[in-house]
Amino acid sequence: MTSWLFAPTPVPSLPIVGRPERFPVRRILCVGQNYAAHAREMGSDPSRPAPFFFSKPADALVVDGADPAYPSATADLHHEIELVCAVGEDGHIAGWAVGCDLTRRDLQAAAKAGGRPWDAAKGFDQSAPCGALTLGALPDPAAPIRLEVNGVARQTGRLDDMIWNPSEILAKAGELWTLRPGDLIFTGTPEGVGPLLPGDKVTATIAGLSPLNFTVQPQ
Ligand code: MN
Repeated sequence: MTSWLFAPTPVPSLPIVGRPERFPVRRILCVGQNYAAHAREMGSDPSRPAPFFFSKPADALVVDGADPAYPSATADLHHEIELVCAVGEDGHIAGWAVGCDLTRRDLQAAAKAGGRPWDAAKGFDQSAPCGALTLGALPDPAAPIRLEVNGVARQTGRLDDMIWNPSEILAKAGELWTLRPGDLIFTGTPEGVGPLLPGDKVTATIAGLSPLNFTVQPQ
């Protein structure tokens, strides 16, 4: 039996709709600029030939109802609602959830300008709120995707506005990493990203999936 110097960090996990088991999370990959209108609002050409990826640590996960704190070292925290795919035991997509790719937009802009990595802009503590997982096929591949802040719509789109669909994203990610059960992939956000402030109440929905709700807590 292994003897640890200190207690290992518990495995991050998601609840599963209608099931008592939890989904153990191994890794979080994210796709950048996967909706044409969002790519344009970020100053990029949406006709780019291949999706690009970045990652967040698994322990950046925040489950539905557990409120993330406003992060340190930023004055421009942004919301990005995203469809999340969950890789199951057979290596295929086993389920789906509503996620929010929280972003320190000011640090991302500085990283882009300096040609430096995005880790501090994207992979910070509590940067990956994610709702409960729904197993099986995606209920509606053309479903509306919508994020509200304090009851006001900020992001509205449809899943079939994606440049790369979930199967294509899984295939592309699989060329770069060995995908394993427990991997989550955030599939990009529609246009309308914008700032969050402490106290803001976020409601993120994709028709057919369990909604994601959280309130940004003071630091
Ligand atoms: Mn994103």
